[in-house]
Amino acid sequence: MKFTNLTRQTEIGANSYYLEMGRHRLLLDCGMHPKNTGEDALPNFKAIGDREVEAILMSHAHQDHIGMLPLAMRRFPGAQIFMTEATAEVGSVLLHNSVNVMTRQREELGEMSYPLFTHREIDRASKRWRRCPPRQRISIAGERAAEREKDTLTFEFFDAGHVLGSTGALLRAEGQTVFYSGDVNFDDQTIMQAAVFPEEKIDVLILECTRGDHAKPEGWTRAGEERRLAEALAAAFERDACVLIPVFALGKTQEVLAMLHNFRRQRLLPEFPIYIGGLSSKFTDIYDRRTHATRRQLPRLKLMREVAPFILNDETVRDTAVRGGRVYVLSSGMMIPKTLSNVFARRMIENPQHSIFFVGYANPESPAGLLREAGQGGEVALDPDKPRQRIRCNIEQFQFSAHATRESLVDYAGKISPKKIVLVHGDSPAVEWMRATLSNKLPNSQVIVPTPGVELEL
Ligand SMILES: [Zn+2]
Ligand SMILES: [Zn+2]
Repeated sequence: MKFTNLTRQTEIGANSYYLEMGRHRLLLDCGMHPKNTGEDALPNFKAIGDREVEAILMSHAHQDHIGMLPLAMRRFPGAQIFMTEATAEVGSVLLHNSVNVMTRQREELGEMSYPLFTHREIDRASKRWRRCPPRQRISIAGERAAEREKDTLTFEFFDAGHVLGSTGALLRAEGQTVFYSGDVNFDDQTIMQAAVFPEEKIDVLILECTRGDHAKPEGWTRAGEERRLAEALAAAFERDACVLIPVFALGKTQEVLAMLHNFRRQRLLPEFPIYIGGLSSKFTDIYDRRTHATRRQLPRLKLMREVAPFILNDETVRDTAVRGGRVYVLSSGMMIPKTLSNVFARRMIENPQHSIFFVGYANPESPAGLLREAGQGGEVALDPDKPRQRIRCNIEQFQFSAHATRESLVDYAGKISPKKIVLVHGDSPAVEWMRATLSNKLPNSQVIVPTPGVELEL
């Protein structure tokens, strides 16, 4: 078995992994770096030379996992592409949006290679995606496979509890098993239910490490954290504050909308206007359309109808009134320059009346990371093209991560005690903590941090 990490550094970047099992070659995910542009935003395909792959498996439709799929399909024209139906639906919306973003960046950043793919290419490519139900063994040729099938490579998707459509993939070939976690959450969120992952014998576990550098806070519960958020919003409204919550368009937006819905229904808060962006509203529509087909909580909640958020675009976000008692749930979560959350934040951070609430992960070098780090009283350049600003608004942090706690990742690895554990999808300190802890707890497992671009024999 061979494995190559195609991210460019040990980081949560353009996630993509090359795997060889016996005579089979495949790719797990093919993401776009959330922060870098041009060549640096791509997985490092050069590391696998001119090797072909038979199949590409998608874990879920976040940009850092699916963002460069059209390029991979161009490079590997013979590959079959597999994902869940929900991931296909969300993924095509996300990639079309990405064309628009890259077209704009061509001007703004002088990135002449952009857009890297076109709307028409996505339409053509997405017709070739094979939509697979979870918990079904499927051969790499795309056929339903019998359980006793031992010779061909098969895969089976397992619900990862991270965002709509997210899965881990269990690969079986020639008596060997590999499980790729994708992005996972072992706890219930407000909408998503906890992952249901395999507990059988697994030889190689490829495990995400997003939260490896953060201990689960003492006494933390999701219900307690939701209460804390409701109280913070009530206090902000008391002050006549406008509240910005930067979120990922897919996943965190819908989770936050569901929480706000609960707060209103439980009469913890009065009626108040909620704003989201256009892309977020498209993903929210998909959540609503798929309520019947999704393992989830609040199975009847139609967010667009019952929460009825107002929708902003690139223009209206510049002149919507920054008025007390309003909540802006805007992407991007990392507040990348020119996105709605970034543009809106620049309009409010110098005013002590207003608030920004952080609810999830942000790369420490992203504008959201810098803003959190600098804190109230500090200074920040949210957009390198604009002057630095003094942070006078109130900043609060909440823990609603869509990723597993490091404690639950370690528990899961312990339960299946694989022969080898390959640690991916984490910044260096996160991966290091996981390596040290797992090596200590599971002396019979070999724990590996794969050097990017270097082939590993597993
Ligand atoms: Zn994700
Ligand atoms: Zn990810």
